[in-house]
Amino acid sequence: MSFRALVVEKNGDADVSASLQNIGEDQLPQGDVTVAIDYTTVNYKDGLCMQANSPLVRDYPHVAGIDFAGTVESSDDPRYFRGDKVVLTGWHVGETHWGGYSQKARVNGDWLVPLPAGLSPKQAMAVGTAGFAAALAVMALEDHGLKPDQGEVLVTGAAGGVGSIATAMLGKLGYDVAAVTGRPETADYLKSLGANRIVARDEIDTAINKPLERPVWAGCVDAVGGEMLARVLGQLKYGSSVAAVGLAGGAKLPASVMPFLLRGINLLGIDSVLQPFEKRVTAWQRIATDLPLEKLDAMIRPATLAEVPMLASEILKGQIKGRIVVDVN
Ligand code: NDP
Repeated sequence: MSFRALVVEKNGDADVSASLQNIGEDQLPQGDVTVAIDYTTVNYKDGLCMQANSPLVRDYPHVAGIDFAGTVESSDDPRYFRGDKVVLTGWHVGETHWGGYSQKARVNGDWLVPLPAGLSPKQAMAVGTAGFAAALAVMALEDHGLKPDQGEVLVTGAAGGVGSIATAMLGKLGYDVAAVTGRPETADYLKSLGANRIVARDEIDTAINKPLERPVWAGCVDAVGGEMLARVLGQLKYGSSVAAVGLAGGAKLPASVMPFLLRGINLLGIDSVLQPFEKRVTAWQRIATDLPLEKLDAMIRPATLAEVPMLASEILKGQIKGRIVVDVN
């Protein structure tokens, strides 16, 4: 039986093209669980994987899509049975292994997580890798002592995927959230998610010759990196932490060590790809309980597989608000 997938092919050395094709199950990569996909999404990394000369994709033809949620169709893994609802993020699926831009996927059972009770496949993809990483960031800040009574928590790149989920989750947990955005028109959206204050991007993304500024933030979820993360380090309160999730503003960190030495602040690295199973299960459970699911609808931009190439290009330009949810069927 054939099914539809968005197949990326290489055209010469410097170009790729994506087209919807009917492919057969025998073309799927090796794995012990075959999943009928309900929904997938478009993350920043998907944008990178759909680009020509992507350093993340090695072999073509390729099916991208780093996340999916769906129903197990067949399984040789004793933990999964036909009909089980599952979610997948990370493990380089969509990069080195065919991913979610397809009606079917075949993967290693170790990479899957049972969909937690209370979360539908569509909601899971409204969260996706971006939201999963945001949840890991909130958990890391809490593990390092963050509590709601300590003051404002900053979220950078707030109108994007990581930022939207972090804002909503922190808001529901009772934190006083300050949201940084370069798009002032998203202020009402961010306030509806749970932000108490909007900080204009240009207030905080320019270099200054001052390693320590007035300490204002009790913590930070950072999706931007670069100059902005460097500034945030110098604005954190004594002993507090920033969870570094992303690089939407740049991979370089032109920072000073002074905030570490004089204020004892912590820079916490967040990786969503290779988290062990138990941590992934905990994070998905936190998402099911601590994310205001009724607010997910406001974040969702629905899409079809055919629209993915255009959306993949938009997300790299910082033009996507919230989260894209792709119905593959
Ligand atoms: P989005 O594009 O949805 O969001 C990024 C946001 O960052 C934009 O919406 C914009 O927010 C802001 N932004 C974009 N460009 C700039 C810029 N030049 N300077 C400052 N701010 C900018 O992407 P995601 O939320 O999906 O991902 C965000 C980052 O997190 C990416 O770098 C991604 O690779 C990374 N990531 C890392 C993970 C991990 O495991 N560590 C997992 C998931 C994502 P606004 O318009 O509000 O300013």
